[in-house]
Amino acid sequence: MNVTKLNQIYEGKAKKVFKTSDENLYIVEYKDDATAFNGVKKGTITGKGVINNKMSNIMFKLLEQNGIKTHFVEELSDRETLVKAVKIVPLEIIIRNVAAGSFSKRYGVEEGTILKNPTLEFSLKDDALNDPLINNSHITALNIATEQELKNISDMAYKINDVMKKFFAGIGIKLIDFKIEAGRFQNEIILADEISPDTCRFWDAETNKKLDKDRFRRDLGNVEEAYQEIFSRITNK
Ligand code: UDP
Repeated sequence: MNVTKLNQIYEGKAKKVFKTSDENLYIVEYKDDATAFNGVKKGTITGKGVINNKMSNIMFKLLEQNGIKTHFVEELSDRETLVKAVKIVPLEIIIRNVAAGSFSKRYGVEEGTILKNPTLEFSLKDDALNDPLINNSHITALNIATEQELKNISDMAYKINDVMKKFFAGIGIKLIDFKIEAGRFQNEIILADEISPDTCRFWDAETNKKLDKDRFRRDLGNVEEAYQEIFSRITNK
């Protein structure tokens, strides 16, 4: 598509966002920077930006094929993708199939415990407040999203879980949990942000080896290799 990259409008922990000559489109640029614990731990994962860009785009295409609307438009380069210019709903939308991370800590449940049903939770995206958990009545009370939008977001999240769980099972990976973000675009809620080892927990189905950002968060070593391993399995290379 023939659009010109214009000024940067936002820089997050892992991506930059640029305006384009088309007001309905942005360009996202993925970085190798990694942070954890709300920015307290900082580092670089070499090659991560390229993998997260390409992997997210593969996942967005898979989800589109399954009837889920996403912000994806076109991959422009190894690190850059053209996306719809959404307004992000400031929520982290988290689905869990297996207990891990903050869920295990909060409820005293051993990591790896299979949950009887997938769970859905929301955190308010606000670094200054440390992304606190927030419930549906808080979200509507604070005008963050309407009840209808929350229903659309929840339905979308569970559907994404069904599609991704099946897809990853097919390549020998357990989808433990993941975080997504939703955006508003032309009066609709669509999937935005990214889907990558930064935002999902992936465990090898046979060995339970962690193949995601927990290797960085917990200093487990072989971080780059884990990202590469996931990407190789997805692309079958
Ligand atoms: N997650 C994320 N960004 C965040 C917090 C969580 O992408 O700011 C993802 C995380 O990678 C995991 C899932 O959401 O796949 C659940 O994370 P959890 O709430 O267990 O938080 P953590 O243990 O990472 O603090």
